[in-house]
Amino acid sequence: MQVYPKIGGEDPSLLDLDPDRYERTNIPAGAPPEQSPAARLHNFEMVFTGYHDAQAVVEATRCIHCPSPEPCILGCPVHNDIPSALLAIEQKDFEQAANIFRATHNLPEVCGRLCPQEVLCEGACTVAGFDRAVNIGKLENFCTNWQRTQKGFPMPEMAPRSGRRVAVVGSGPAGLAAAEELARDGHEVVVYEEWPQPGGLLVYGIPGFKLSKEIADAKCAHLEELGVKFICNTKVGRDIQVDDLQKKFDAVFLGIGAPIGHSIGLPGDDLKGVYQATEFLVRGNLPSDELPEGMKGLPEVGAYIVVIGGGDTSADCVRTARRLQIQHGFPDGEVVDYYRGAEHEMRVREEEYVHAQEEGVKYEFHASPVRFIGDEKGHVRQVEMQKMRSKPADKAQRVPIKIRIPIPGSNFIVPADIVVLAIGYGGDPLIASRTPELKTVKPGIFQVESELNGATTMPGVYAAGDDVRGADLIVTAVAAGRHAAWGIESYLGTLTTRAA
Ligand SMILES: Cc1cc2nc3c(=O)[nH]c(=O)nc-3n(C[C@H](O)[C@H](O)[C@H](O)COP(=O)(O)OP(=O)(O)OC[C@H]3O[C@@H](n4cnc5c(N)ncnc54)[C@H](O)[C@@H]3O)c2cc1C
Repeated sequence: MQVYPKIGGEDPSLLDLDPDRYERTNIPAGAPPEQSPAARLHNFEMVFTGYHDAQAVVEATRCIHCPSPEPCILGCPVHNDIPSALLAIEQKDFEQAANIFRATHNLPEVCGRLCPQEVLCEGACTVAGFDRAVNIGKLENFCTNWQRTQKGFPMPEMAPRSGRRVAVVGSGPAGLAAAEELARDGHEVVVYEEWPQPGGLLVYGIPGFKLSKEIADAKCAHLEELGVKFICNTKVGRDIQVDDLQKKFDAVFLGIGAPIGHSIGLPGDDLKGVYQATEFLVRGNLPSDELPEGMKGLPEVGAYIVVIGGGDTSADCVRTARRLQIQHGFPDGEVVDYYRGAEHEMRVREEEYVHAQEEGVKYEFHASPVRFIGDEKGHVRQVEMQKMRSKPADKAQRVPIKIRIPIPGSNFIVPADIVVLAIGYGGDPLIASRTPELKTVKPGIFQVESELNGATTMPGVYAAGDDVRGADLIVTAVAAGRHAAWGIESYLGTLTTRAA
């Protein structure tokens, strides 16, 4: 494989670009093919249909191979060796490119699609100083999907069986990453999952138009090939306790996420037709046979759907709502997302925001609900909103705290057949309430010694992902899951006895 010599010594200044690299900045950025808005509203399939081989090669050739330390590697929470992978794509060695991503990442096909690259690797890309950043995410997605579909997941080198057993609680990105690392280290791994299928938010949350369920399913099947056992429909803290797991296993990993939707606490929030985001998303996106009892069947659909929130979750809700309207008899319906802050304050990927608008979603900023108004049957029909203003940031504060203040006399009423609340998530306090040795920093958010080892306050029990960081990102959950697995590996090395 060709290796570019480092140019400009250790000085990454663009002035030091050699002519060959500079030429690369003239290659026009190519957008990967995607479904048109009109077509995609009729299905729940991924918007991006993926690069063709030739397009991927051209896009990878836009990488100018910066002198080290490469900013994209530093910008990636798992420090993928992006330049080497892109060079392999440029040389049409897609398998090698995928293996480079897999060396540092357990779910590269997922993060290639769903990471907020614009603030991570692509946000750090030098090429953005000339044109659009190299489309690193879509290239990561391209080569790892290419490998998975053409060759299957590569079988890793497995350590000899250690005789040690580890329980992993939760099968989201953190749990899957930890399970894979521990299985490769030769340990017997059993994953306990509350939902009927493994995958966490990759399956039960993130809609199929952002990520095909098949990817998480294939990853779980691959982990089974590595010896990982999944026990679903089992909630730790309710069906089995951490203390019981400690007796059966040598170590326990907790990757239970932050699954509890924040309560809005407003009059009428218990009316029929008012949904929490997770229930709306899973019922809107998944077939009934993949859902637990009490959550089966499509959510209601209507002409006026109001979504409250300004993050990735609300973007997923509005886009699910538009598809449900188009597919279930309300083609001229209206979906409006009300957010209490300004447009630039939303915590949503730009790509998803653009897609939502292309799909006909309307946004209203500086607006917050006051109450939900129902009809005589107890079903929501309207929402009373009020206009808000953001208090100017205190200049003395390094990180401005955004305070939104209601504007008196600004209330207005909007029609609503359905309301979806997407106002953030917190931890589930159940496990901590049943296991007093496990200290938390907030309800359901575990205290750990360091995110570099995930050690909780209970010996042999480790935690990582959203149940430590609070609701965050897939890539940070994967990174922390890997670190916790390595923490467990060190801990197992100190044990002299085995679990029963
Ligand atoms: C709608 C939505 C969209 C998102 N979109 C993006 C995105 O585009 N990009 C991005 O990077 N991030 C996104 N995120 C955030 C991302 O999904 C999470 O940060 C990530 O999944 C956290 O991984 P985790 O493994 O810590 O937790 P989770 O993925 O939440 O997995 C936790 C698992 O533990 C299980 N569990 C919980 N309690 C128990 C118990 N007591 N016993 C057994 N099992 C239990 C849960 O059922 C779940 O399967 C999104 C989040 C949401 C809600």
